[in-house]
Amino acid sequence: MADAQEMASRLDTSVPHPARRYNYWLGGKDNFAADRESGDAVVALFPSIRTAVIENRYFLRRAVTLLAGELGIRQFLDIGTGLPSADNTHEVAQRLAPESSVVYVDNDPLVMVHARALLTVAPGAGPTSYIEADVRSPEHILQEAAKILDFSRPIGLMLIAVLHFIADEEDPHGIVSRLVSALPSGSYLVLSHSTGDFLTPEAVHAFRTGAIPVYLRTHDDVARFFDGLQVLDPGVVSISNWRAEQEPEPRPDESETATDCAVARIP
Ligand code: SAH
Repeated sequence: MADAQEMASRLDTSVPHPARRYNYWLGGKDNFAADRESGDAVVALFPSIRTAVIENRYFLRRAVTLLAGELGIRQFLDIGTGLPSADNTHEVAQRLAPESSVVYVDNDPLVMVHARALLTVAPGAGPTSYIEADVRSPEHILQEAAKILDFSRPIGLMLIAVLHFIADEEDPHGIVSRLVSALPSGSYLVLSHSTGDFLTPEAVHAFRTGAIPVYLRTHDDVARFFDGLQVLDPGVVSISNWRAEQEPEPRPDESETATDCAVARIP
């Protein structure tokens, strides 16, 4: 692991970062002026972004609850971890099954700093570890994760609100295929991705060309991430509507979250 000085030198706070901007929308303290400025620019384009990120966290919690609580998953590979928030993957999983192990992956050095503090192992809990890596290097991630997770047993692969940072030419669908093909039968893919289906073409363009380029895709583009997999009910739907019957009313409209998701079994 890099030492604190080396870490500090890699922390450029003058450039907005997705994890820090997301933290700003969630009301956290781990963000800087550049992140807040970029966050406000998105609010101007899409005023319900805060509802969207809160609902995305709820989706994460419900999906991990399903995997750990009902589907017997005890290993998680969570790529695009984000800064610590309420109900992080390992907390939700280990509440239900303390032996669950979690490997977090993110490319923001600030997430790494927080992960060190976060990943103090609770007595009796499974191992939780952290890899600083880019989702665009799936081979590297698989190699590192295999040092910790047992790839002969099912794994929950989480790609929540991360692939919209990957450009078409970087082949997000190919990245998912590569990761999924490394997992044994009975593993699960949990994915959410922002869509441009409720925005004007001008707004979609503004997202792509913003300080943090975001590649909003269509519902059908999101559904294609699950090609060849067994998508669980209710299919590829808005995060507002995915098994959300127990969430407090009123539920936001899908146009307010503009993020699609699904959970699928790997055959
Ligand atoms: N999955 C969390 C956080 C989403 S915010 C949640 O749903 O709440 C998106 C996260 O993806 C950020 O932490 C950001 O640092 C990370 N990220 C963005 N681009 C990435 C990349 N190319 N490789 C790895 N992580 C990336």
